[in-house]
Amino acid sequence: MKNKEEILLSADENKFRAELRDFLVREDAKKIEQEIYERDFYPREFYEKTGEEGFLAPVLPIEYGGRGKLVYEAILAEELGAACVPLAWIHSTSSYVYATIARYGSEEQKKRYLPAMKRGAKIGAIAITEPRAGSDVMRIETRAERKDGAYVISGEKRNITNGSQADVLLVWAITNPEVDPAVGMSVFIVEPGAEGFEVVEDYKLLGGFPGTVNSHLRVDAMSVPEENILGRPNEGAKIMFDELSVERALYAAMLVGEARPVLELAVGYSMEREQFGTSISRFEGISFKIADMATRLEAAKLMVYHTARLIDAGFDAEKESAMSKLLASEAFYEVAHNTVQILGGRGLSDEYPAEWAFRMARLSMIPAGTNEIMRFIVQREVYKEHKRRREGRE
Ligand SMILES: Cc1cc2nc3c(=O)[nH]c(=O)nc-3n(C[C@H](O)[C@H](O)[C@H](O)COP(=O)(O)OP(=O)(O)OC[C@H]3O[C@@H](n4cnc5c(N)ncnc54)[C@H](O)[C@@H]3O)c2cc1C
Repeated sequence: MKNKEEILLSADENKFRAELRDFLVREDAKKIEQEIYERDFYPREFYEKTGEEGFLAPVLPIEYGGRGKLVYEAILAEELGAACVPLAWIHSTSSYVYATIARYGSEEQKKRYLPAMKRGAKIGAIAITEPRAGSDVMRIETRAERKDGAYVISGEKRNITNGSQADVLLVWAITNPEVDPAVGMSVFIVEPGAEGFEVVEDYKLLGGFPGTVNSHLRVDAMSVPEENILGRPNEGAKIMFDELSVERALYAAMLVGEARPVLELAVGYSMEREQFGTSISRFEGISFKIADMATRLEAAKLMVYHTARLIDAGFDAEKESAMSKLLASEAFYEVAHNTVQILGGRGLSDEYPAEWAFRMARLSMIPAGTNEIMRFIVQREVYKEHKRRREGRE
């Protein structure tokens, strides 16, 4: 072991991370990130290069060229978040899609989508949220009706990351409106370009979110072959909850990565900046902020890897993935908020990436389920566990 960080991972996981870091340094990912902020382009080529070099989709089973564990995917999300935020966002929903197809897909679906997603040639999107169904995911109104060996899907999806750029979308729709949506929704693999698929608009978030795409999509009587259903008909809610656990763990890993260089910036700047004849890091008003930032971020990171390992061990980890998302987004927010403060006036200008990080951190509390919903899930699970213990069932 060379350093404390390595204790968290196995020898092979550390090797994967070291090779990935080398690749990102070799490709000058930070410079590409800076160019994206200046010129706002979607780093699709860089994503493809990451795939060609073999780094994408380590969660896939070994027969699909992966390493079969979510923990590798968390390492990837964290390192991409630290090196190039827009690249990490392309990877985010793409990884939720390939992980879900790997888990629930038929052999034919896996063969059709996984190799291309692993190469980075195909990008994925998750389409759950609708104009009238945000936190209340069970209220989706998109309908899929079975007709002549196909499903005809109609509805609208909003706030879809990668939406207008994706090649493979997982779209949730009601297939049996007569029953509770928990047993009456299904999920479909949709390829854009089919008749009836429309990109309504790409949203402009927080005054601009360079290099990323967040879309409003409409499907109008779009016909999807029966074999594009993922899992069994009406199994969509179960697949959604599994997907969301993976999504929250990986999303949190990305945020831990995004926060890392921001903390480094605050530490470095506070050591160099002098006021009242000394470095500002000597004032407890500054250095205690650094202590809190570092502590929260470390805790979030440990929670993320613990969650990934629980999922790898076969647990549903609904509580822990919600905790991870909550901790990581709030740690990132605290890191970014305090970094702006530590940089003083410079923190607000575009001379440093602090103001950008602050906007990103604010944004991070809403996707993958809002932090209110994360708290709702955590308390619900804590009470359930308590009840089980009290009744001697655990
Ligand atoms: C950048 C970004 C990327 C996204 N990417 C995707 C994506 O790829 N795919 C996808 O399907 N969706 C995506 N979303 C959508 C995201 O999941 C939703 O925005 C989120 O779930 C909240 O839904 P809403 O925006 O409709 O807010 P609402 O559900 O309307 O909530 C509004 C407010 O009410 C609060 N609230 C609601 N219910 C409760 C409750 N029971 N208790 C306490 N407070 C409550 C919320 O916390 C929030 O503060 C993305 C969103 C953003 C901003």
